[in-house]
Amino acid sequence: MLVNRLSFFRGTPTLIASRLMSSKISANQAMISKPVQEVDKEMYDILRMERERQKHSITLIPSENFTSKSVMELLGSEMQNKYSEGYPGRRYYGGNQFIDMAESLCQKRALSLYNLDPAQWGVNVQPLSGAPANLYTYSAIMNTDDRLMGLDLPHGGHLSHGYQLPSGTKISYISKYFQTMPYHIDSQTGLIDYESLSKTSKLFRPKVIVAGASAYARIMDCKRFREISDACGAYLMFDMAHISGLVAAGVIPSPFEYSDIVTTTTHKSLRGPRGAMIFYRKGVRKVSEKGKKIMYDLDSKINFSVFPGHQGGPHNHTISALAVALKQAATPEFKEYQASVITNAKHFGEELIKRGFNLVSGGTDTHLILINLSNLGIDGARLETILEKINIAANKNTVPNDKSALFPSGLRVGTPAMTTRGFGVDEFTQVAEFMSRAVKLAIGLKSQESPDAADNRSKLANFRQLCEESTQVQELSAQVYEWVGKYPVPGEL
Ligand code: PLP
Repeated sequence: MLVNRLSFFRGTPTLIASRLMSSKISANQAMISKPVQEVDKEMYDILRMERERQKHSITLIPSENFTSKSVMELLGSEMQNKYSEGYPGRRYYGGNQFIDMAESLCQKRALSLYNLDPAQWGVNVQPLSGAPANLYTYSAIMNTDDRLMGLDLPHGGHLSHGYQLPSGTKISYISKYFQTMPYHIDSQTGLIDYESLSKTSKLFRPKVIVAGASAYARIMDCKRFREISDACGAYLMFDMAHISGLVAAGVIPSPFEYSDIVTTTTHKSLRGPRGAMIFYRKGVRKVSEKGKKIMYDLDSKINFSVFPGHQGGPHNHTISALAVALKQAATPEFKEYQASVITNAKHFGEELIKRGFNLVSGGTDTHLILINLSNLGIDGARLETILEKINIAANKNTVPNDKSALFPSGLRVGTPAMTTRGFGVDEFTQVAEFMSRAVKLAIGLKSQESPDAADNRSKLANFRQLCEESTQVQELSAQVYEWVGKYPVPGEL
């Protein structure tokens, strides 16, 4: 029956039109059954160009990945049509029997992947993305004006951990809703300055300390974070967005043992759909001096904060796709992949060092490398620009002591995406070589910039123009395009 209905739409436009006239199927119904290629050529062309860019670029942005074909299938599935405000078994809409199954399966797999006992941990899989998940968590346990500490943005933290300028201007609204105080990394070692965090937290007395980062290459000392949080009575929230795939595979230590709450995005090293999860502890939080058990109440608070506190209907296509990604993340193949992500990152770092690059903290324990370019005579913005022109996607980043976010001295790179496409150590040696060539070209082009450029933005526009006109840049661009295009993207095999 279904096959018959689908085959009805095949044929030339004239044939379809004549069928329409002789049937009860409306033009509207016909339109919604056509592929995007026929319905919207303009958008289809943009999609094609983005597909092509992804296939022919070296993706070094450490927060990006290529999700699997099966995750993509669920993202484009009928699961997206359903409204299901509430939680499994407690919905505000009918018809959710299968949606309940999908969300429960996703929760079960999430707890199992991180070896969590459902009696001691719960998980909410509905947050739409990482920054909202963090906001929902803070709102669940803090009143407006309560205090929070997170790693400062220019030191590798994320906006959703609070951020305000030295002048006091609040950039992240987290710093508007709550009182935030940053902690820093030690500019000598490139590591978190736990000593200073310990001192300032005793004075500031935050309700929440956020561990986790967007640009930190080393393993964080969770035990130390726990001790510091206990000393000032704070909840320890670990945002493992960047490293959740590595943690799932057991190739780096897990933050769960020491944390009260763990949040994560699902689309970075975990390689799932764009989304987020909030894990929270249940049971006894601590025992008072008089022996009284003080219980966690995160379960109801966090779930209430997600819905109805902040969100409406969950994105069921994402939750279903996440369930698939979590199943894949529990396999030996995924463990092997994550081990390669780290091997590749360490090797890539060494190859960069051989070519004169300085790495913040001297190397990496994870999927990510933070390069300090200040010794090379080029900044992160110009290097990012020329790399884009030669089909390498990386991103400029501040490093400690940087004054300008527009022209920072750092570049952030990582290995998850290209390891997914089959890159090993030899390929990352080649990428280090491409980057070294890009730096040399960038230094030459910078010296040709017009002295008349009025401000930083026009300087960068001038540099971009010089890159576009350079035949050496064009040659390198063609070489990278050809080379990386031979490595398959998911679904191509
Ligand atoms: N937390 C950390 C540590 C991140 O690095 C990011 C994004 O890069 C986020 C949260 C926010 O995630 P999203 O972009 O999904 O809102």
